[in-house]
Amino acid sequence: MSAPTKELLVVEDLRKWFPVRRSLADVLAGRERRYVRAVDGVSFTVVCSEVFCLVGESGCGKTTTGRLIVRALRPTSGKMLYRVSEEVLDALRALHVRLEGDSFVDLAGRFRGKADKLLRREVQMILQDPYGSLNPRQTIRDILEEPLIIHGIGGSRDERLELVVKALKDVKLTPPEEFLDRYPHQLSGGQRQRVNIARALLLKPKLIVADEPVSMLDVSIRAEILQLMLELRDVKNLTYVFITHDLAVANNICDRIAVMYLGKIVELGPATEVIRNPLHPYTKALIAAIPEPDPRKGRAIKEVPIKGEVPNAVNVPPGCRLHPRCPYAEERCRREEPELKDVGGGHLVACHLY
Ligand code: SF4
Repeated sequence: MSAPTKELLVVEDLRKWFPVRRSLADVLAGRERRYVRAVDGVSFTVVCSEVFCLVGESGCGKTTTGRLIVRALRPTSGKMLYRVSEEVLDALRALHVRLEGDSFVDLAGRFRGKADKLLRREVQMILQDPYGSLNPRQTIRDILEEPLIIHGIGGSRDERLELVVKALKDVKLTPPEEFLDRYPHQLSGGQRQRVNIARALLLKPKLIVADEPVSMLDVSIRAEILQLMLELRDVKNLTYVFITHDLAVANNICDRIAVMYLGKIVELGPATEVIRNPLHPYTKALIAAIPEPDPRKGRAIKEVPIKGEVPNAVNVPPGCRLHPRCPYAEERCRREEPELKDVGGGHLVACHLY
């Protein structure tokens, strides 16, 4: 694959804080409202045709970031500048949608009516749960036809059927006629995830946020689904934001990896560089935890003794967020939050050791 260069999505200082409900006692005592700082100042750029990976343990903010990008949530602050495709750009101009630069829109803004629908078509999501994300009372045909009806694509039922059949072929559910009248429970987990991918593809998106798309599948099926996603990326010129807790999966599919911890990116760089030469103690700990298939081989990355559990995102530690758990923490780490710095070759790390 040639090196991608054009920015598709530029995320700047993105925040999503969820307010914690105050009890009557809190209100009477005049205690300040507290917030779960799920995403707390995240910045990154996704370039066209790449697979950009957000990695981290549960609660690190990766799924919330994905849901912000697809506009399932509204951010507390920050920008998500998205390069609109040529086909949609003129329509947005005609609708007087505010553009940033020549062809970007800020997905953090509010959009209504047709503009909202056009932008939703551009950025689609593949959900983690292939079992729960399909309506068990609908046939595969109805599930796939629904987004077409909502977005007014395909003038007649026959035209929509043609598009549904093509989408099933694209995800290699063939012959499609065999799947159209089945219900989700009549499919295997891998087939259901293919239907999910087909549903996302029907609206011809440019950017797909895939939230742990293979984590609930059998190991034997995972490679097939990842391979399918890569093939579709090449054929349909897609770009993925791939969310996973599994660095081994990230290493297989991603061009670049951003490691998140407690709502922040702590390391970002080309996938091979981050996996082979991790710099941040947290990334090292994640990589050291990947099981080694051949026990006779030594580990390339020595185990890093990160202590305890991830703290609550309501009580974020001051300074470096990892300092209560980090074996290398020094006085400065308790006071000063490290910036994400480029240490060369597009490899960025947020740690006072660098
Ligand atoms: Fe550890 Fe300090 Fe680096 Fe944070 S800044 S990861 S506490 S060494």
